[in-house]
Order: sequence, then C-alpha cells, then structure tokens
Amino acid sequence: MFNNFVYQNPVKILFGKGQIAQLGKQIPNDAKILLTYGGGSIFKNGVYEQVKQALKDRNIIEFGGIEANPTYETLMQAVELGRRENIDYLLAVGGGSVLDGTKFIAAAIPYDGEDAWQLVTGKAKVKQAIPIGSVLTLPATGSEMNFFAVISRKETHEKKGMGHPLLYPAFSILDPETTYSLPQKQIANGIADAFTHVMEQYMTYPVNAEIQDRMAESVLQTLIAVAPKTLGNPTDYEARANFMWAATVALNGLISVGVPQDWATHEIGHELTAAHGIDHARTLAVVLPHLLKIKKEDKSGKLIQYAQRVWNLSGTNDELIEGAIQKTIDFYESLDIPTKANAYGIGQETVDKIVKRFEEGKVVLGERHDITPEVVGEIL
Ligand code: NAP
Ligand code: FE
Repeated sequence: MFNNFVYQNPVKILFGKGQIAQLGKQIPNDAKILLTYGGGSIFKNGVYEQVKQALKDRNIIEFGGIEANPTYETLMQAVELGRRENIDYLLAVGGGSVLDGTKFIAAAIPYDGEDAWQLVTGKAKVKQAIPIGSVLTLPATGSEMNFFAVISRKETHEKKGMGHPLLYPAFSILDPETTYSLPQKQIANGIADAFTHVMEQYMTYPVNAEIQDRMAESVLQTLIAVAPKTLGNPTDYEARANFMWAATVALNGLISVGVPQDWATHEIGHELTAAHGIDHARTLAVVLPHLLKIKKEDKSGKLIQYAQRVWNLSGTNDELIEGAIQKTIDFYESLDIPTKANAYGIGQETVDKIVKRFEEGKVVLGERHDITPEVVGEIL
C-alpha cells in the first residue's frame, strides 16, 4: 500500500545561468557571514569572484580547506572560528562535501554539550542551527535541497550520516555553468551517486505508488541519457542543466515519500570510504550490483519493472532480472567506474573489519531490515 507521509521541503532554489547575482537578496543585510569552501576550485572557475561581487560591502569572513569527505577534525576549526567571530549566517560554496560540512558547522556552533561528534552519532540532538545558504558547484549529493550531512572522523576511521530539519539550507543557487570546470571523474562520480540515490528509494518492493515509481524512473532515464552528452561536451548547457536538476530531485525527499527505502548500498559504501578513502560514488558502484544479485528474489518485482521501463528489455522474468543487473553494471562501467572490489584494493581484511563493526553496532540494513552483517560480508 502507498504509505502515508508528511512532506515539507523549505529550500528555495535559484536555478540557472547568472543566478549567483541574486545572492545578496537571499541573506539579511546585517548578517555576519562565514563563507565556507573546499580546496580552492572556486578560485579557479570564477565562482568565488561572482560570490564576492554579489556580496560586496557585506560583512564576510572565510573558512577554506573543507576536504572531500569532510572531517570532524577540520570542521571543528570552522566551529571555533564561527563562535569566536559571532557569525550569524553560513554560506557554503562548493560540492556536497562543503555543504555537508557546513551543515555540521551550523549545528555545532550553538551546541553547548561537551563533544560535538555526538551530533553526528545521534547521541546528542540538534536543537539549534545557524542558517545556511549554498552555491552548489557539483551536482551529485542532493545536499543542496535536503537536511542530511555525512561526516568523517579521521581519528577513528568512521564515516556517518546525520540529519535534522534545522539543517535544510534556506536557499541554494544552482548555476549549471559553474560545473563546466569539473574534471570528468567528478562528473562521472556525480552521475553515479545521483543514480544510486534513486535506486536506494526505488529498487525495493512494490507498494503501488505508481507516481513515485514513474518519477524515479524518469530521473534514472534522464541520468542515463545525459551521461554521455555531458561527459562528451562539458559546456553543453542543456545537458548540464538536466544533470544538475536531476541530481537535486534524486535526493530532495520527493521520490522517497510513500515508499520503502533501502540505503544499504550507501551504509556499506561509507565503510569502504572510511577504510580505503575510495570516492563515495565509486563505493556505491562496487556495492549495488552485488547487493542486487544477492537480493534479487526480494527485489524481483521491481527489478523486472526496472528492466522493462528503464532499460527497455524484454524476455522471461529471469532474463529481465539478470539483464537489469547487467545493465546497471554496464552503466557504471560506461562512466569509467569499476564495479569490482579488487579494482580498488579492497581485500578480505577490510571486509572482515566492516562485518565486525556492523556486528558490534547490531546493524541491520535494507528495506526489510534483513541485510545482517553476515549478508554484508557476502555482498562484499
Ligand atoms: P565533493 O567531495 O564535494 O567534491 C569533490 C571534488 O570536486 C573536490 O576536490 C572539489 O574541489 C571538486 N569540485 C567541486 N566543484 C567543482 C567545480 N565546479 N570545478 C572543479 N572542481 C570542483 O563531491 P560531492 O560528490 O559533491 O560530495 C561527496 C560527499 O557528499 C561525500 O562525503 C558523500 O558521502 C556525501 N554525500 C552526501 C549526501 C547528502 O545527502 N548530504 C548524499 C550523498 C553523498 P574543491 O574542494 O577544491 O572545491
Ligand atoms: Fe550518495
């Protein structure tokens, strides 16, 4: 049955060419702003200049150096700066890592407990947050329009997701032209991440939510259609625009309402990043095809539908299921993203460690909560 739901997404999106010029109007005039960014891509592609131009005469300080897979250790430096400087607005300029990191900073600045890592583990609740705005430069995570953040801790090799409605950005600016400077590898990663986000919310069991299925399928088909175009021609505006909005819709909460969700691929993938530093999207390409193989009976209804509607396959049910999994593998590989664990140097030792960690945490995953640590071991 189509599940009951409550849906409210408060994020204002300013989409398209030249929209960074609207930045000044989105942030209160008297706000003291902390601009956060990553390793410096924004200085090379002109995004920083556009932001500064749109915010000239405003009170801004900056914090750079938020790394891919943002770490608690780095982010706590921004928290100290923000507290010391009494900032009252955060502006994240960059990809999902800068956005996620900034969400943590927003929650941690007003947090009065001892250990802000507890906001990530869930031991402490987010009760207040500094308002956030963003200028997104990498379509992939949906972080620009959701309230999730994934934070890593170097010290303990952990990578964990947190989320709270107070962490929705107030606004996000999405100008597809800011993505022209992305290396091919990041575009491929972004497509693979967005594709997998849809799969996590779609490839479960049928609940007769036709509208949800059709929306998910259309995002998958858009990503499939746009991938070669946008990889082949980085300045194809229409392709980038379609990719950028598809990645946002993939994880802004709309396609997940009323339906079951899986997310096991992401949970396992985070462990692979924590253990081996593998790019987030690449970990998903390693996990999902193997998860589909192991769960193909439970997911058979949806696999058949996906084969027919998304990949236009025909044949017996068994052929459709096998074909669907093979098409998924081929799609990741077409992005130059390997799907085999040994391509990344993931060995038995890592697998054992992950299984042990899940056993200790009594973690069970998947839409039916039946992906036990033992099954995780089989998948890997
Ligand atoms: P990212 O880690 O934010 O960025 C990857 C790289 O791309 C960085 O080196 C960055 O350089 C560069 N870059 C960004 N924009 C660029 C541009 N326009 N031109 C050139 N280079 C650019 O990548 P991401 O895939 O967006 O984020 C990945 C993180 O998000 C992972 O930690 C993942 O777990 C998390 N995630 C979050 C959610 C969520 O819902 N919140 C969902 C899925 C994944 P600079 O650092 O120099 O800018
Ligand atoms: Fe993801």
